[in-house]
Amino acid sequence: MDSEHEVKKMGALGLLAMDVPEEYKGAELDYLAYSIAVEEISRGCASTGVIMSVNNSLYLGPILKFGSEEQKHQWISPFTSGDKIGCFALSEPGNGSDAGAASTMARLEGSEWVLNGTKAWITNAWDASAVVVFATTDKSQKHKGISAFLVPMPTPGLSLGKKEDKLGIRASSTANLIFEDCRIPQANLLGQQGMGFKIAMQTLDSGRIGIASQALGIAQGALDCAVDYAEKRMSFGSPISKLQAIQFKLADMALALESARLLTWRAAMLKDNGKPYTKEAAMAKLAASEAATAISHQAIQILGGMGYVTEMPAERHYRDARITEIYEGTSEIQRLVIAGQLLKAYRG
Ligand SMILES: Cc1cc2nc3c(=O)[nH]c(=O)nc-3n(C[C@H](O)[C@H](O)[C@H](O)COP(=O)(O)OP(=O)(O)OC[C@H]3O[C@@H](n4cnc5c(N)ncnc54)[C@H](O)[C@@H]3O)c2cc1C
Repeated sequence: MDSEHEVKKMGALGLLAMDVPEEYKGAELDYLAYSIAVEEISRGCASTGVIMSVNNSLYLGPILKFGSEEQKHQWISPFTSGDKIGCFALSEPGNGSDAGAASTMARLEGSEWVLNGTKAWITNAWDASAVVVFATTDKSQKHKGISAFLVPMPTPGLSLGKKEDKLGIRASSTANLIFEDCRIPQANLLGQQGMGFKIAMQTLDSGRIGIASQALGIAQGALDCAVDYAEKRMSFGSPISKLQAIQFKLADMALALESARLLTWRAAMLKDNGKPYTKEAAMAKLAASEAATAISHQAIQILGGMGYVTEMPAERHYRDARITEIYEGTSEIQRLVIAGQLLKAYRG
């Protein structure tokens, strides 16, 4: 797939900056519209879905929420049309789930920040023109000593690692970002110094709605493929869709999918209405990602041998589904977020 071409097309359709106000060249829609769009794009291609989700939620999202007016014009508007896309660099080789342990450092020298360290697994890395990056400005403060920065790409002192060779979402680039005395203007600090961890966590709350929607699209694609095949495949003289064993599988797949979709839309609507949605976004991402894995697994079973070969999309959905349980917080981390919110509400 030519992902550059797909990105341009998404930009022309307004899909790369869906909840960004028109003032900054966005489509000025809402997160429910965004969720539906990410699902539909991912139904066809989950790689394109994650490219879209990262630009909307992880790159533009924090700048829209925490950026100054000047930063919004400089770092949002050129990233809405598909000419440029952004990325988000939180994870490191030594820490993923434990994001507060960031070892990438930023120190102020005169009027410049100097960044050193390595960020790992960065989606869009090879194609991006800017990154929102998190680095420690005061180690003694632990996660309260992390700050967020805006870095143009390419820029001296920032190099890319190799493209990771992945199980799925193979048309999306993933690579390390290596900072070696990378100098950026002091004005490229996003939000206040020490606010980085809060910015990252709030950004991931929204991002999880995007990944839940990507998982819904993968699951819907797998279900579509299974239903179509079941209607056409003959066995023992009739289509396999007549078999109760197959019908039960299809019913369970549809139930898991629609339950996860309702959770996802609820989280999106809470966000759109300015209500808290941390727990609901974690629930949506957990339910949708686990549904995508289970549904794409059963889709292969319904296709039999044809599920196992690349002529049919079932095996691609199966490979693509798996990442949705890992990035933007693993399923274990979503459970910790849900339980944490639940207990917080109980304790008052
Ligand atoms: C294709 C891909 C794209 C990615 N894109 C990005 C990106 O654009 N930007 C970015 O910043 N990151 C990105 N990531 C990184 C991703 O978010 C991390 O891989 C993920 O958060 C898990 O971190 P880890 O790999 O270090 O696993 P670890 O944190 O080492 O976890 C290993 C295992 O231990 C479990 N575990 C860890 N801590 C706990 C705990 N407290 N309780 C229970 N279980 C726990 C985990 O759930 C997991 O099962 C991407 C990763 C991949 C694979």
